[in-house]
Amino acid sequence: MSILERLQKLMATPGLSGHEDRVRAVIASELDALGVSHRTDRMCNLVAEFHGEGPNVMLFTHMDQLGFVVRKIEDDGFLRVERLGGVPERALASQEVIVALGKGRDVPGIIANKSHHATTPDEKYTVVRVADLYVDCGFETKSEAETAGVRIGSPVVYAPGSFRIGKHRLAGPAVDDRAGCAVLLSVAEGLANRKGNGANVSLAFTVQEEFNLRGALPLAQAIGPDIAIQVDLMLATDTPDMTGRGEMLLGKGPGISLYSFHGRGTLNGVIPHPALVRLFEETAEAESIPLQRSAQSGVLTDLSYVQLVGGGVASIDVGFPMRYSHSSREVVDLRDLDALAKLLTASLSRITADFDLLRG
Ligand SMILES: [Zn+2]
Repeated sequence: MSILERLQKLMATPGLSGHEDRVRAVIASELDALGVSHRTDRMCNLVAEFHGEGPNVMLFTHMDQLGFVVRKIEDDGFLRVERLGGVPERALASQEVIVALGKGRDVPGIIANKSHHATTPDEKYTVVRVADLYVDCGFETKSEAETAGVRIGSPVVYAPGSFRIGKHRLAGPAVDDRAGCAVLLSVAEGLANRKGNGANVSLAFTVQEEFNLRGALPLAQAIGPDIAIQVDLMLATDTPDMTGRGEMLLGKGPGISLYSFHGRGTLNGVIPHPALVRLFEETAEAESIPLQRSAQSGVLTDLSYVQLVGGGVASIDVGFPMRYSHSSREVVDLRDLDALAKLLTASLSRITADFDLLRG
């Protein structure tokens, strides 16, 4: 199955942080079809092991997505919600959502936008806070919502699905990080068929990244990796509003992060291990894959926590350029995903028993 087909399948499946079961089931069935065995830990991280002779590598990507949780059901059936994850409030009005109650039981709805004819001049240019938003699922009463299965705590996500734009691109919610999941399924396919040795790889699909960045942590503690490679988006900077932020172009290949940092209450980030920077640069060159570079503050992944496990883990963030992060219309270029899968597979084959992890 191609990366496109897998990504479409994964994007059609809802999986709010802490409610990843349906995404995990899709990934598990894909791994089953490849003949790859896998297990799930208590946090519900999914991991497949590929034994080799090199150091222990944890290659991981998160399967959850951001969204909302029902906070209150109004008497007239409207739903009030809390944000879960970095939801951009200014991109919410008029969005389609679902209350993700289970296959066949999902409830479609819309995030309401005040009728334009009644919008005052100052409201026109004001972002409505999530506390004041409401979700309209067509319910006429609170009990109708409850009968449908909606409860306080029910997960709400952007309406799942995707559509093609341009020749090579796909748009929709949760490209972050279902694209990473689709790429790692391709890598799993390559590892299942690999000949010869290479790294000992724990390939993992992790939980709750969009919530608190720490769902992968217990898995990392259990695995005790020497090397951690995390796969997620790289902020594309090729739109008119982003050009000052870097040189990450959609459709021009995968990227590595040389610096990430998040200061607002978090104080964490990743400065990659130099041996891993060299590894990806040399592999990209040998395989004729263009490799882009990212250095961003305001960006953070769960690798920030994984790198601190045990005696310390040599770490690097690798990823695909993506536009419009955390909106319901994230955009990715399929050529970047194909190239990223190739880059990861080739890099893993170069992590042999004598791979030098001395820093510097
Ligand atoms: Zn992500």
